[in-house]
Amino acid sequence: MSRAHRSDTEPDAPVPGTAGPAADVGRWFSTAARAPLDGPGPTRGGPRLPAWGPMEGAQYGLRSVPDEIDAGFALLRGRPVAVLTGAGMSTGSGLPDYRGRDAVPRSPMTYQEFMRHDLARRRYWARSTVGWEQFRSARPGATHRLLAALDPTPLPLTAVITQNVDGLHAAAGSDPVVDLHGRLDRVRCQQCDALSARTALHQRMLSMNPELAARLPELAADAAQAPDGDAEVDRTSTFRYPPCALCGGILKPDVVSFGESARPEVVAAAFAALEAAEALLVLGSSLTVQSGLRFVRAAGKSGKDVVILNDGPTRADPEATLRLHGRLEDVLARWSALAG
Ligand SMILES: [Zn+2]
Repeated sequence: MSRAHRSDTEPDAPVPGTAGPAADVGRWFSTAARAPLDGPGPTRGGPRLPAWGPMEGAQYGLRSVPDEIDAGFALLRGRPVAVLTGAGMSTGSGLPDYRGRDAVPRSPMTYQEFMRHDLARRRYWARSTVGWEQFRSARPGATHRLLAALDPTPLPLTAVITQNVDGLHAAAGSDPVVDLHGRLDRVRCQQCDALSARTALHQRMLSMNPELAARLPELAADAAQAPDGDAEVDRTSTFRYPPCALCGGILKPDVVSFGESARPEVVAAAFAALEAAEALLVLGSSLTVQSGLRFVRAAGKSGKDVVILNDGPTRADPEATLRLHGRLEDVLARWSALAG
């Protein structure tokens, strides 16, 4: 058992005092419980699981003037930069932002629910099996490609640290990428820690659930038309999923869920990337959870410049050296053009 990374202090819990929670983990991890099986009981540190959704009272759609955007570029150009990205990076690839303006309020499933309840796991795997084809077909967008092309000239990146679980930075050619919240295309045994491919598990589950497999195209089409792209799958209680082939343990997507902390070796890699940098650039994250916010705090403490570009407010706005507003692809394209 390697649970050492699950701390009791829940560093990925919502920042006290914020309107909402929400790690920027992809929907396909959390497409499960609209009504938490454990009920709304209180946990340490305040409200348990406010639903995902737009931040209350937030202003979206602001645009920085070109001079400000150019100033951001001047500040970063030619310096080692660590980049921290969130869900706003992948919305152009059809993956939703849980905190953006179009976010549909919902309650994510927690690690504890997943581990404690067979029924929760059946529901999770059934629904995410329907969503998997769409998730798997997501391709890097302009934002991913532009960022990858800015490195190493004019922006020598020490790493792209991402809160997304979609693997799209790596697919666009960014290297190294630190997957702070894991990867949805991997599965990890919660007992022996063995990693395996989600694709293989998907095939396995299709063969274990022929009835759902037969209806998959129809269900996937329904999900694609739902406002939040989520799959409503009936009879999830009969869905079958396999145990770990090595030890019989519980398999779970290799992503950090609510109630869990990022893996310590991954966090260490992210901090190493930050340490090697002179500046931190935040792209498309509202920095609502500590797992991202702590890098801004650490950068500030060590006197590094922090540039934040996001559509909508972030938790760290007062701490930024420069706060830019606008569409990510527009700003990155302008920086590209400025680089000549
Ligand atoms: Zn195992």
